[in-house]
Amino acid sequence: MSEPTIRLAAFAGIFLAMTLWEVLAPRRPWAVGRSARWPGNLGMVVIDAVAVRLLIPTAAVGVALLAEARGFGLFHWLGWPTVLAGLVGFLVLDLVIYGQHMAFHHVPWLWRLHRVHHADLDVDVTTGVRFHPVEILLSMVVKMATVALIGIPVAAVVAFEVVLNATAMFNHANVVLPAWLDRIVRLILVTPDMHRVHHSVIRSETDSNFGFNLPWWDRLFGTYRAEPAAGHDGMTIGLPIFRNPAELRLDRLLTQPFRQPAGEEDGVAVRSSPR
Ligand SMILES: [Zn+2]
Repeated sequence: MSEPTIRLAAFAGIFLAMTLWEVLAPRRPWAVGRSARWPGNLGMVVIDAVAVRLLIPTAAVGVALLAEARGFGLFHWLGWPTVLAGLVGFLVLDLVIYGQHMAFHHVPWLWRLHRVHHADLDVDVTTGVRFHPVEILLSMVVKMATVALIGIPVAAVVAFEVVLNATAMFNHANVVLPAWLDRIVRLILVTPDMHRVHHSVIRSETDSNFGFNLPWWDRLFGTYRAEPAAGHDGMTIGLPIFRNPAELRLDRLLTQPFRQPAGEEDGVAVRSSPR
């Protein structure tokens, strides 16, 4: 199977599974629901995929293939066995994505791109793929640079891309995970309850739980929050701005980074002090 086929099949399988889970055991009642949100959110993932194919067709996997062929990158210079380089490479990519996510929150012009993801008024499986195409392209460039410099093996890059896509859909899903199971899973994987804190309208909660795959970086760097202050049922999802449901439309999503609602503050300049 070719790499795009693997990724598409994994995406479709996880998407269907999480949607079924959401229908059978939803975690929270909807604020807005699916019909107003899905066309915009799914439109974004299609545009993102097309944008990457058109503008950076090699993507991260192409860079890994090239680095392998030319013997470029740290792990190739060190001559590490592929399995070890793959495992460490996977961890490095996850740490880089964690750091990149923090940058997207703390650098004002990056936040303008990333807040499109946060402006969703419910969090469900489609929120996990709702990113502005410019954010997706920037993220791809960061991944490509990491893969080239570290010399991460091809298999690890493919695995990381598939796993990141899958965990993003899993931990944005509006699903019930029994508390005892959440506690166990959360030791090795970011769970829906852990990530939902990150979608709270309260800025100090938005600026926590940055991890997408591994929960360890948040614990290590002090950005971990176990749960929202108002609880999962009482919390409000989204941002203080862009709360008009018209903002869920695809055309509005694409232009959000370039609009600042008059008289409204999106919180980036008045963020609470670091913890
Ligand atoms: Zn975020």
